[in-house]
Amino acid sequence: MSDVEKKLYSDDNIDVTTFKCPNCGGGSVFDAKTQKLKCLYCGSLFDIPDQTGVVTPERQLEELLDKGEVWKEAEVYQCQSCGAKEIIENQRVSHVCPFCGTKNVVKIEELPGIKPQGIVPFKIDKKMAGQSAKKYVKGKLYAPSKFKKSVKPENIHGIYNPLFTFDCQTSSSYYGKLGKNYVINRIVNGKVISETRTKVFHVSGTYQEIFDDFVVQASSKIPSEIIASLQPFSTRKAVDYKPEYLLGYGANTYDKDGQSCWQESKSMMQNRIEGSILKKYDYDIKYSLNVNTDFSHEMYKYILVPIYVGHYKYKNKLYNFFVNGENGKVAGKTPVSAGKVTLTVFIVLLILGIIALLYYFA
Ligand SMILES: [Zn+2]
Ligand SMILES: [Zn+2]
Repeated sequence: MSDVEKKLYSDDNIDVTTFKCPNCGGGSVFDAKTQKLKCLYCGSLFDIPDQTGVVTPERQLEELLDKGEVWKEAEVYQCQSCGAKEIIENQRVSHVCPFCGTKNVVKIEELPGIKPQGIVPFKIDKKMAGQSAKKYVKGKLYAPSKFKKSVKPENIHGIYNPLFTFDCQTSSSYYGKLGKNYVINRIVNGKVISETRTKVFHVSGTYQEIFDDFVVQASSKIPSEIIASLQPFSTRKAVDYKPEYLLGYGANTYDKDGQSCWQESKSMMQNRIEGSILKKYDYDIKYSLNVNTDFSHEMYKYILVPIYVGHYKYKNKLYNFFVNGENGKVAGKTPVSAGKVTLTVFIVLLILGIIALLYYFA
């Protein structure tokens, strides 16, 4: 492992008593590039014990009602600065909060909840995540230069995010009232007057759709919109969960349970179904649409997906940006430099002024 790589991981202060290197006894981390464990000291690579690489199977939705297997080996830590809760495997301490960068993270008395069935491991390392984020902020015209410079791997931390995926078949029947506008021309007192009228028509029918790996975010720490813009995650290729994947990384706690995620998933699916039904018709106005949907063959998976979280403080406000740990896709709000905006406004006014002057003299 190079000095740079060592520095990248040194902030995380990984406990060396666990997952010892077979060659030198040093501590190890999960290496995204090779998908193996890597010794922090001698750089040896070794396989994750008992990992079959088998894609994690979906479970029947009824099992969601059961509490599920408790995540015994894990502990919950909380950032004393921003309140973020993080799950860390036993005997390992990550001192840096991925969301705000403070080291004031302490163990709290809280259960981590249900053990994830599967995990989509990190595929890109911190360095690559940093490069993706750099490219992203370069494109942000109004982001402050200081912010652009602060986007580096040292300020980015990998954290697994919990989510539920749902499969189901839907069968819907619907009826509704739609309207299509049309224009007629009338001649009144010798003048042509255009008038818009609406033709009202009734629709009804049935609609079927199959959903596969429909994703619902289970942690409020990363907003659902961010997860949506970071997608896709290869949830279909999630492998069985092994604690070793968390070495060098942490995991977000979930604060929405399976049942509420399923309810959320259902209403999101309903919206999509309604949209698909309406797409079949040529209309301008929706007066009403009643959709009755039956859900069947419901299955679920509770898995962790890889996200790099970066943080930046600008004028006392904390900004987070996020990088998909598989493909480097970036999302998040960037601060806006007031100076840069003012400069743009000034330049635009200047150009307008010059044009006005030229016009005046011409
Ligand atoms: Zn070693
Ligand atoms: Zn924090």
